[in-house]
Amino acid sequence: MAEAPKMRPPIESGCPDAFQYMHPLMIKNYGNWAYHDRPRPGVLHHVAKSGDEIWTVRVGTQRQLGPYEINLLCDIIDKLGEGYVRFTIRSNMEIMVSSKDKVEPLIKAFEEAGYPVGGTGNSVTMISHTQGWLHCDIPGTDASGVVKALMDDLHEEFVKEDMPNRVHITTSCCQINCGGQGDIAINVQHTKPPKINHDLVANICERPSVVARCPVAAIRPAMVNGKPSLEVDEKKCICCGACFPPCPPMQINDPEHSKLAIWVGGKNSNARSKPMFHKLVAAGVPNNPPRWPEAGAIVKKILKVYKKDAKDWERIGDWVERIGWPRFFELTELPFTKFHIDNWRGSRHMLNQSAHIRF
Ligand code: SF4
Ligand code: SF4
Repeated sequence: MAEAPKMRPPIESGCPDAFQYMHPLMIKNYGNWAYHDRPRPGVLHHVAKSGDEIWTVRVGTQRQLGPYEINLLCDIIDKLGEGYVRFTIRSNMEIMVSSKDKVEPLIKAFEEAGYPVGGTGNSVTMISHTQGWLHCDIPGTDASGVVKALMDDLHEEFVKEDMPNRVHITTSCCQINCGGQGDIAINVQHTKPPKINHDLVANICERPSVVARCPVAAIRPAMVNGKPSLEVDEKKCICCGACFPPCPPMQINDPEHSKLAIWVGGKNSNARSKPMFHKLVAAGVPNNPPRWPEAGAIVKKILKVYKKDAKDWERIGDWVERIGWPRFFELTELPFTKFHIDNWRGSRHMLNQSAHIRF
């Protein structure tokens, strides 16, 4: 009988095995931790059932690190730590050491180098941002720049744990792709339909894919100046930007009309209450580099009111659910406009079928 063909082993790609990079004490006590506490903001202390202890120092970074920053941070970690480091999903660095005595010198060295220690517990931890101009071809703004400008202003809230609950802020440099839910989210908002460069469409774009890409069927094939091109029904277009990636001649990014929008009350966690979608609270905010003062002022105002008015352990979404949206707009003094009402007729068939704002 012929031998059964051998199965080809799957080719695994993705993240490497984490164990090879773990601190030896973490490997030894994997799955056997008794408890943990936080001796101070930015420091975690884990105690294993075996009695082993490990301290973790959390440091905020600017995320997009160049060779200078990486060498600076790694030199500190090699000299004063034990050479073990990991990144959190919000681009904080965590340095693990086996002795309490190493914690304070590490904190001092990071702070002297300009890197704050914090981001644990009820702080405003590092803002997570999407890839931006360094890695993606469709951003409407530099999300990492917004983060840097805002975190400079929110430094105090990063190094303290003074908020009612943790605050996770996100930024997203287009409005369709990789941004996530956040207690506060700063997302790009295009406000005008794309402008089409008809001379390039026939050479660059696969027209049927572009037509299929539009969620509201606003794009049609058309002949322009004798050449095959596309046209947009501007009454239908919701300015989402989905047509730009498959057809770069449909430019939607615009220095004047691409704005920022601020959303509030999202969370992924199911602790105490269900995960929530964030809701739009400010639209048409100027996309104003390099410091984005208008977006920063709104975020700081929301945080100030939340800090003062929320009960202990309420996330921003829980707090708004309790006080109601009218009170939220009253307290934050943000104007409530027609742009807060989701009146897009397709929304009833989609996740957005419930109104963004309910009174
Ligand atoms: S949010 Fe959009 S523009 Fe930004 S990195 Fe993701 S896909 Fe690219
Ligand atoms: S921006 Fe969005 S809605 Fe407008 S034409 Fe492009 S894909 Fe369609």
